[in-house]
Amino acid sequence: MSLTSLLYRKLRRTSNHHNFTFIFTHIRSASSATHNSRKIEKILIANRGEIACRIMRTAKRLGIQTVAVYSDADRYSLHVKSADEAVCIGPAPARLSYLSSSSIIEAAARTGAQAIHPGYGFLSENADFAQLCENEGFTFVGPPASAIREMGDKSASKRIMGAAGVPLVPGYHGHEQDIDVMKSEADKIGYPILIKPTHGGGGKGMRIVENPKEFVDSFLGAQREAAASFGVNTILLEKYITRPRHIEVQVFGDKKGNVVYLYERDCSVQRRHQKIIEEAPAPDIISDFRSRLGQAAVSAAKAVGYHNAGTVEFIVDTLSGEFYFMEMNTRLQVEHPVTEMIVGQDLVEWQIRVANGESLPLDQAQIPILGHAFEARIYAENVPRGFLPATGVLQHYRPVPVSESVRVETGVEEGDTVSMHYDPMIAKLVVWGENRASALVKLKDSLSKFQVAGLPTNIEFLYKLANHKAFANGELETHFIDQFKDDLFVTPNDSVSAEAAYDAATYSAALVAACICEKEHSLLKKSPPGGLSLWYTHPPYRLNHHATTTIKLEWENEYRDNNSEHLSLSISHLPNGNYLVKMGEHSSPALEVTVTHMGDHDFRVEADGLSKNVNLASYITDKTEHIHIWHGSNHHHFKQKVGLDLLDNLETHQHRNHESASHPPGTVVAPMSGLVVKVLVKDGMDVEEGQPMLVMEAMKMEHVIKAPASGLVSGLQVTPGQQVSDNSVLFNIKAA
Ligand code: ADP
Repeated sequence: MSLTSLLYRKLRRTSNHHNFTFIFTHIRSASSATHNSRKIEKILIANRGEIACRIMRTAKRLGIQTVAVYSDADRYSLHVKSADEAVCIGPAPARLSYLSSSSIIEAAARTGAQAIHPGYGFLSENADFAQLCENEGFTFVGPPASAIREMGDKSASKRIMGAAGVPLVPGYHGHEQDIDVMKSEADKIGYPILIKPTHGGGGKGMRIVENPKEFVDSFLGAQREAAASFGVNTILLEKYITRPRHIEVQVFGDKKGNVVYLYERDCSVQRRHQKIIEEAPAPDIISDFRSRLGQAAVSAAKAVGYHNAGTVEFIVDTLSGEFYFMEMNTRLQVEHPVTEMIVGQDLVEWQIRVANGESLPLDQAQIPILGHAFEARIYAENVPRGFLPATGVLQHYRPVPVSESVRVETGVEEGDTVSMHYDPMIAKLVVWGENRASALVKLKDSLSKFQVAGLPTNIEFLYKLANHKAFANGELETHFIDQFKDDLFVTPNDSVSAEAAYDAATYSAALVAACICEKEHSLLKKSPPGGLSLWYTHPPYRLNHHATTTIKLEWENEYRDNNSEHLSLSISHLPNGNYLVKMGEHSSPALEVTVTHMGDHDFRVEADGLSKNVNLASYITDKTEHIHIWHGSNHHHFKQKVGLDLLDNLETHQHRNHESASHPPGTVVAPMSGLVVKVLVKDGMDVEEGQPMLVMEAMKMEHVIKAPASGLVSGLQVTPGQQVSDNSVLFNIKAA
């Protein structure tokens, strides 16, 4: 197994450290011990996507049969193909399938599974589901229902933690909800304070209150939002930590009362209160702090009789250096692989063994920290539109090659659709290095080579983050993205950057042109002309004849307000087999390019004495050919109009078509695919610019659509409960 062999190699290199040798022998013996006492022979995974695939991989290695469940939308997805058996549990909306406890229990009974692994999200932190599994005779691969229940209420969990001696953010977590009492508690805590719903999640309903004057309004607002979102309007108060780090500790318990910690992860880099890059161990932590954190986390787990995998989240005040309990997540976390990489253990295997009644495979003193690991979450999302979730088809999907130190956890394949129904995460890229600096080099390299085309992703944003000096220095805080927004986001009309971006794009365009021509040529060499050819449309064509053609590409220079740039390239095929590329209206010197076509998407090019690998991908939607090029750390996306004859030919091969984006003035379209939760206006109503019009929800986030101008509402197309797709028309505003 790769992690074990990685550990083994590390241990050989560090064999002067006697403890490690002992650890390795122990892991080996622990692995072979599983055969004796295993009760789980078939496991159902009540989840989808990458985590379902991840759990199945370990189950298979342990010789356990796997059962997948799937919704109608996931019939052909990777997690279904990866399972020994699969059961359809309902239609696409999660509440009718992945959240349907009874359908999942039925599927387990029908297939004879002994255990149910909930993954993360969906039913993983639903105490009633955990209880139901046990009542129906299935082993729930997770903590006891009682611990899930106690940790689900933020106030109750804080009271339990306080009693167990775990440090808490100064605040009020009592039962009293009277506004005057709360206000006097706020005065005692001191401003700024944070108001939080006790049953919240995803950062919803939280409000920062800067001074006593704002208290009443914020409190009432938070109560309303909590009632609407969670059905419970109870509130707690906390001191607002102005410069926090998010550090969490992986804990593990067995059913015999043993609990250990597997060190910490720093998850400070967040957008919309959700993590995007995580790492282990946390940078700049001294070992005394690490063990105090770990022990606090173990006390937290013991206080609720915990077993299986759990995460205790702490907020660290970078100004005072103090840490405080925030909450406990009673499941395996998305970011568990970074912990696996530094301790050389498979946490899903631990989960299954512990669920089987076995003891923890290692005790505290036996758990090593080896090197450093990062995880970057690759999402289908629209970064410039405030990281809104995106949908679409993975027209081209080529993750980086995996190795002992690079993992790609994914649940999708090329051609799959990222739909509006589920989380838009495409993959998790996990890298390991002997130290933080070497792991960071691998992270940057892997991000630059991770190829996705067909829908917007955050890959380039992650690459910028990973390349930021402050990130390299480990200057992590939860406000990192906001703090460095000037470096991380494009500023329109920055003429220096616009010029540099243009130069980089035209160079890429020249390579694209040369590669396209060479591909055509190599195809023509194989089969005589007769089909559709760029060169053939400019007769007379003869192989090796000196011919010239023009390629017109469109490219978006995001640094410009009116960002569409039209690039016109003229390409001559020289007698020596090279291509001479000239930029249409510009007097820049022509570039002579040598191209070798290595395979479908792959080329080796040489231009001006520099040779490199180039990858090209193309697909057609809306009568437009999209061409993506990757070379070095560059990725460019160009568009090209498709000729009518070619279109006729291709029409039958299309996956799908998106609605065109051109609408009459005043039309307001959905900025993302999602569910319409509330409609706050009616046709014929007068609205002011900026007035909330409707509320949409997609992937744990609520988005308020506001009036772009003052005027009269007309043509309202949506009602609450309706699913809408990205760019579909919502309503119209006739200017006043
Ligand atoms: P939720 O369950 O809604 O996600 P959490 O309590 O986990 O809420 O907090 C979410 C995020 O909000 C944290 O990761 C942190 O960035 C920030 N946060 C929470 N509590 C505080 C606090 N007391 N001071 C400053 N930031 C906080």
